[in-house]
Amino acid sequence: MRKDYNLEKRKFVIGGFIVVIVAIYLCKLFDLQILDDKYSEIAVNNARSTKITHPSRGQIYDRNGKLVVYNEPAYDLVVVPRDVQEFDTLGMCKILRLDRKDFETLWKNMSDPEKNKNYSATTPQPLVQNLDSTTYGHLQETLHRFPGFDIAQRIIRRYNYVSAANVLGNIREVNAEDIERDSDNYYLPGDYTGDMGVEKSYEKYLRGVKGKEIFVRDARGRIVRDEQGKIKYYNDGKDNVDPIAGKDLQLSLDIELQQYCEGLMRGAAQRGQIMHGKRGAIVAIEPKTGEVLALVTSPNYDPAMLVGKDRGKNYAKLVDDGTKPLYDRAIMAAYPPGSTFKPTQGLIFMQEGITNINTSYPCYRGYINKGLKIGCHGHGSPIALQPALATSCNGYFCWGLYYMLKNHKYENLDSAFTVWKNYMVQMGYGYKLNIDLPGESRGFIPNAKFYNDNIGEGKWGANTILSIAIGQGEIMATPLQIANLSATIANRGYYITPHVVKQIRDVGIPKEYTEKHQPSINREYYENVVTGMRMAVTGGTCKNANLPGLEVCGKTGTVQNPHGQDHSVFMGFAPKDDPKIAICVYVENAGFGAQVAVPLGSRIFERYLLGKSCNENDEIVSEDTVSNEIENGANKWSDKWLQERPSAFDEKEVPAQLNPDNTPKQESEKTAHHPSPSDPINGLPQNREQEQAILTRPIVDIFTRYGIYKG
Ligand SMILES: [Zn+2]
Repeated sequence: MRKDYNLEKRKFVIGGFIVVIVAIYLCKLFDLQILDDKYSEIAVNNARSTKITHPSRGQIYDRNGKLVVYNEPAYDLVVVPRDVQEFDTLGMCKILRLDRKDFETLWKNMSDPEKNKNYSATTPQPLVQNLDSTTYGHLQETLHRFPGFDIAQRIIRRYNYVSAANVLGNIREVNAEDIERDSDNYYLPGDYTGDMGVEKSYEKYLRGVKGKEIFVRDARGRIVRDEQGKIKYYNDGKDNVDPIAGKDLQLSLDIELQQYCEGLMRGAAQRGQIMHGKRGAIVAIEPKTGEVLALVTSPNYDPAMLVGKDRGKNYAKLVDDGTKPLYDRAIMAAYPPGSTFKPTQGLIFMQEGITNINTSYPCYRGYINKGLKIGCHGHGSPIALQPALATSCNGYFCWGLYYMLKNHKYENLDSAFTVWKNYMVQMGYGYKLNIDLPGESRGFIPNAKFYNDNIGEGKWGANTILSIAIGQGEIMATPLQIANLSATIANRGYYITPHVVKQIRDVGIPKEYTEKHQPSINREYYENVVTGMRMAVTGGTCKNANLPGLEVCGKTGTVQNPHGQDHSVFMGFAPKDDPKIAICVYVENAGFGAQVAVPLGSRIFERYLLGKSCNENDEIVSEDTVSNEIENGANKWSDKWLQERPSAFDEKEVPAQLNPDNTPKQESEKTAHHPSPSDPINGLPQNREQEQAILTRPIVDIFTRYGIYKG
């Protein structure tokens, strides 16, 4: 009986247990089906899909409102491999007007991660790029029959001018590295980003903000459409976000002046071509604002070469071209500034009290001191600052630096040199100016440590390094830095960091490009230098830039080049009072400064200030004529100075060998020891690796470093 009792008890327990389980199950079911519609929400969520929509990229205008870069839409057929179902391959081939074999090849290439580096089964992969309008129309009507296929719109950059490729840059598809470095998580495979030029430095403004469209898929994964075949958006499209178009840029460049200057360097523009010609750079700046009016590098190329399917092929062509057209000589090349450097020396000597406006130094065909001779052309002697600037006398500036470095007001040579170096840095040399373009070089200004390291402490003196006073030796500067000096002198003592973008629409410009930089040199000394530079134009080395009605001020430079013909340089501004334009023209291997760079400079002034354009083949003055004019002009100036200020020159300072009669006829010019700058960023790239290193040089992110100036 006891057994039966147990059995009964067990039946009861098991029965009760079943009842409890059923009750729990029913409750849960009730909860699921009736009380909690969270689950139905999840069910819908699973069938939602989000598509990123791309904003249109900002357009680029010049300072006068001329449209320079604009967008044209392009359409690609893309597939999301995961979403593709069995489809009518023949039907698709017919729409695309491809035979089956070609279609299969396209498909294979798209799904091969070796060939398609950005391959992913869950994101849209380009299958056919640049659909023509007929194919695009057919596809739009029939796309609903092909789940997983879609049309993606992107933009192609178009260029109204075959000009300014170095300033504009271009756009390219992002690579894995871009995506990895992207702290904003903006880029997805297949997106485009700015490469070089303002397209790169203003990418964050130009690209805009992406939007999204959310649509619903049915149980078979197909996008739900209404009876007309239109996509039905989730929540009636209320959760969609429209993309915000990128900001337009207004360049400070005058695109017509830019084109004109490019023409002076290399003749007519050619679509789709690398344009050779002279090698060098032209930079023109509006002194008051630091706005760059023209930034020319030569050789250059049609910016449209780096658009569309030929981009890769053309890029390789540009990299392989021995003349380095991708290399922006205006901001990336560091050249010896030559005699354009002399005004900085005059300013420093006066500010330091080494010289005054009347101080004269001897120059008998050169600086001759303690066995060192730095040659000069013939002119009267002794000579003071202004005629020295006008005739581009080497002797004057060598003596100036010599007496500065020997002066007892400084503790020792190192401290005297440090004072000198600090002025140079204040005037924008030795460091990047931080123009709003990638790849800028800092040039090179040595410091005392450089000489201590390279020559040895106590082993160098004023004479060892003296050729830096005439912009040779170790000194290196970009054409941008030389033009910036011209702007500083034009402004009588300040500059605003040169920049190529005048305004980001609705935003303004970075504060950095509105602030004045003021070297600690008195205004009156600038006035003295301006007079000297004016004299160079009216009667000295820049006579070819003497334009009626425009008070041009200038300074030539002829830079000795151990690898070939001299470089020809001109730095100037106009008009003398209330200057509107300051320029630097630097032509590699072109010979005497007055011969090539000065006539080019004078045409730029005529074009910008008078609206005149000269014929490209106008006569270029012969070297003989120029030399004679200089000698005559120079003699006149020095004679005048000698008569008026005979006591200005301290006779005691003249070394015995300065008597011209003692100068040997065949002067063997003893060259000072010149270590070459160890800074690898300087000079022209010697090979492909160096070129790549320069082109990918990191840029200062001006937008995170500085606040944006509104207004
Ligand atoms: Zn001289």
